[in-house]
Parts: sequence; structure tokens; C-alpha cells
Amino acid sequence: MRWPLRVSHVIELVIFDNDGVLVDSERLANTILAGLLTEAGLPYTFEEAVRDFMGGSMASMRQKTEAELGRPLPADLEDRYHQQLFDGFAHLQPIKGVEAVLDHLDARGITYCLASSGTHQRIRTALTAVGFLDRFEGRIFSAEDVAHGKPAPDLFLHAAGSMGVKPAGCLVIEDSPLGVAAAVAAGMKVFGYAGMTDPAKLSDANTVFDDMAALADLIDRA
Ligand SMILES: [Mg+2]
Repeated sequence: MRWPLRVSHVIELVIFDNDGVLVDSERLANTILAGLLTEAGLPYTFEEAVRDFMGGSMASMRQKTEAELGRPLPADLEDRYHQQLFDGFAHLQPIKGVEAVLDHLDARGITYCLASSGTHQRIRTALTAVGFLDRFEGRIFSAEDVAHGKPAPDLFLHAAGSMGVKPAGCLVIEDSPLGVAAAVAAGMKVFGYAGMTDPAKLSDANTVFDDMAALADLIDRA
């Protein structure tokens, strides 16, 4: 009898989600989104916005809520959302402990990049605010770059392809169920960060962790 060969892949590329993994933006973003949807006639709490939209694109948010509402959302909703978000980004902080993870990857010579559902403008504004832009320059991938955002695998496959690494050599760090689903669909290893997310919702990840200080060790043992 022949057993399937189990191949263990060395991690060549770590793909970071941005919101909620690198930058602490989810609390702000979902508070703003819940407020705008409520104003538009679709009452949403912060918790419901986290549950339904965290990790997804604004395009998929619009599609879902318009189906629920039975009419279009205000045309300027995205503009107002981004304006309020960018105003708030002046006080944005990195996720506690994540800079040490980047330093660790640099020291080990493991390449990393960023793949986010946000627009390029949003990503760059956030990275600039926390001082990470130089670390990711030239290695920033947005849902704007592909036809289908998370949970489709397109964005992660696009990031890996652009970085010249096969999916089997990639490790994704994600805090949203949509992002974990996208990584699994892309055939990549994925660690779920349950900083703000219910860990049960990240259970499709290879590992779930809630303390960023543990990530460097988890990567070394992956
Ligand atoms: Mg996220």
C-alpha cells in the first residue's frame, strides 16, 4: 500500500492582513460604519458591524446591505466613511506587539507583505500613521487589485504570485472569518488572530492565537 507523501513546507512569505492585525483600526472603522448605516435607515450596532463586515470590502458591504434594505444606500456613503476614518487615523496605533514580529521576520530573513480588503489609499494612510509604510513599500496588495475580494482566494494568490512564492510556502495572518476563508481557499497556511474576533469564528485557521506576543514563536514552529 502506498501512503500519500506528506510534504511539510517551509514558510517563505508571511502575508499580513492590515486592519486588526497590523493597525488597530477595527474599533474605529466599525463604529463609523454602524453610524452611517443607522443614518441610512438600517440600524446597526458596532457589534453587528464587526460580526457582518469585519474583514470584507466596502463593495461587499454595500451589496449585502442594499439587498437587506431593498433600496440603494446613499451614493456618498463610502466617501463619508473614508473621510471620518482618515480623520480618526491621526490617532491610529499599531496592534500591540506586531512591530516585534516584523523585527523577528527581518532578523530571520523571512519576507513579508500585506494583503488588505481596504483601498490602497486607506492602507497607505494607516501605515503612514503607525510608521510602517517603509517596511511594506512595494509589497502592498489591495482588494482593488483583483476582481473578487476576500473570502475569494484572489487577493492572497495575487500577493503570493507578485512576490514569486507558491501558495504552499505562504502563511497568512488574519483576524476575520472572511480572511481565514480566503487563505484556506488559496491553499495557504493561516493563523487566526482573535484579538477582537470570537476565536470560534476563526476555527478554520491552522492555529488561533489572541496574544500578538506569541506570534513570533508560532511562526518559528510552523
Ligand atoms: Mg482584518
